[in-house]
Amino acid sequence: MNELGVPTCQNLIGGEWVPAASGEVFENRNPADTGDLIGYFAKSSRTDAERAVDAAARAFEPWRLVPAPKRAEILFRAAQLLVERKERLARDMTREMGKVLEEARGDVQEAIDMAFFMAGEGRRQHGQTAPSELRDKFAMSIRQPIGVCGIITPWNFPMAIPSWKILPALVCGDTVVLKPATLTPLSAWNFVKVLEDAGLPPGVLNLVTGGGGDVGNALLESPVVSVVSFTGSTEVGRTVSTKAAPTFKKVHLEMGGKNIIVVMDDADLALAVDGCVWGGFGTTGQRCTAASRVAVHRKVYEAFVDQYVRQVRTLKVGDGLDPSVQMGPSVSRGQVETVMHYVGVGRAEGATLACGGHALDTGAYAKGFFHEPTVFTDVHPQMRIAQEEIFGPVVSVMPFESFEEAVAIANGVEYGLSASIYTRDINLAFRAMRDLHTGLFYVNAPTIGAEIHLPFGGTKNTGNGHREAGEAALDVFSEWKSIYVDFSGRLQRAQIDTE
Ligand code: NAD
Repeated sequence: MNELGVPTCQNLIGGEWVPAASGEVFENRNPADTGDLIGYFAKSSRTDAERAVDAAARAFEPWRLVPAPKRAEILFRAAQLLVERKERLARDMTREMGKVLEEARGDVQEAIDMAFFMAGEGRRQHGQTAPSELRDKFAMSIRQPIGVCGIITPWNFPMAIPSWKILPALVCGDTVVLKPATLTPLSAWNFVKVLEDAGLPPGVLNLVTGGGGDVGNALLESPVVSVVSFTGSTEVGRTVSTKAAPTFKKVHLEMGGKNIIVVMDDADLALAVDGCVWGGFGTTGQRCTAASRVAVHRKVYEAFVDQYVRQVRTLKVGDGLDPSVQMGPSVSRGQVETVMHYVGVGRAEGATLACGGHALDTGAYAKGFFHEPTVFTDVHPQMRIAQEEIFGPVVSVMPFESFEEAVAIANGVEYGLSASIYTRDINLAFRAMRDLHTGLFYVNAPTIGAEIHLPFGGTKNTGNGHREAGEAALDVFSEWKSIYVDFSGRLQRAQIDTE
């Protein structure tokens, strides 16, 4: 702490809290009030990342030999500590990235849920046993830890996303170097501290704060790192994939989205409107699963738009620590400028600006990155505002004439994370479940709201085929080993000795 009570938070490397090798730091400020300096964090470089990788490599051998149920007991203790510290951690999160307090509590709750779930995996991690084609021979498969994992995370779920990656890695017996987003180092620091306090041995989890170009690249290029798990934009994901390729490490990518809610003409309109408001403007539209597109059947289009816009106009924007506020700031100046840019694009493309469209920068908003919740209507599916991820409080509403057209609109983007349908027709609901090409799908609920025990991830340019959360996460952080035990006492040749 300095004389003004502003803390300096260090890296965790090999069980020691240490400054960056350069001694440099960067600032973390509140996006609702940039006069509020939250802390200084280590501005790390390649040297720091390499030290952390070395520490993780040294810790791997003893850690992989700790029985998985014992590893899991540490996760269980971490879950209990997260429960105890939930309110403080949520307040820290709202202060550093702006989401309203209720949602920040939900973010911490996801880490709690994941910690309890992965603690349970300490006594599961089931493999298979299978009959052998030969006599007196036993066949089975087991999960094995892989080694050092480099984990690179975004700012929008600053505790939940690190937990989705770190906890399965740890229970599988891997060791970790975490590089969180530079906009949200405090929530990552808080999470790592919980795991340290829960009793994790030195070096098993290391934290290195700093930029993607410095710290991130060192993890991607390291021959010692066996797995990289990245969540972030599709653009950076492509760099991650390319930079990691020469060392043949496993690369798990969770990237952007342009998610859609389809509202059929038989939908409960009030329910659909509630879902579209929450899906579009929850977390200020800064969720990978945000419902940034809404397609509405022509027969109910006018009625829907009327109710939707009316409700969006009532959203109270402000500091997320104020309990009456429903939508916080964008996370940074850059993010609010992106929003303003796309509002200009939408206008130029000829969409109708039904509400919002302005940055809020006077009075109580003057020191933050606020923007009105914004709805464009009469949007054509090929417009840029209907194709590109904006990652802010901007929703594009489009009319359609038939279910088939709605499916074509839904699938007509480069992303494939989440989609939803509002209908009372069970046949249409099942057709949509089958035909929309996304990793997540909802019926009569918005595109957000995944639970931690099912696989999470997307198709097309949203992901590269892996899934996180649930049991599926174990596939990212472990490797299968198939084992054959011949107890016949003689040479038996598979595929050759048939008797
Ligand atoms: P980003 O891609 O800018 O950054 C993500 C992380 O990568 C950060 O830690 C950043 O420092 C790091 N990074 C940047 N350049 C790097 C490089 N060259 N090498 C290595 N690391 C580098 O994303 P963001 O702005 O933090 O997050 C928003 C994006 O994340 C959105 O596109 C959103 O859709 C996506 N997201 C996806 C999911 C999902 O599960 N699919 C979840 C949350 C967020």
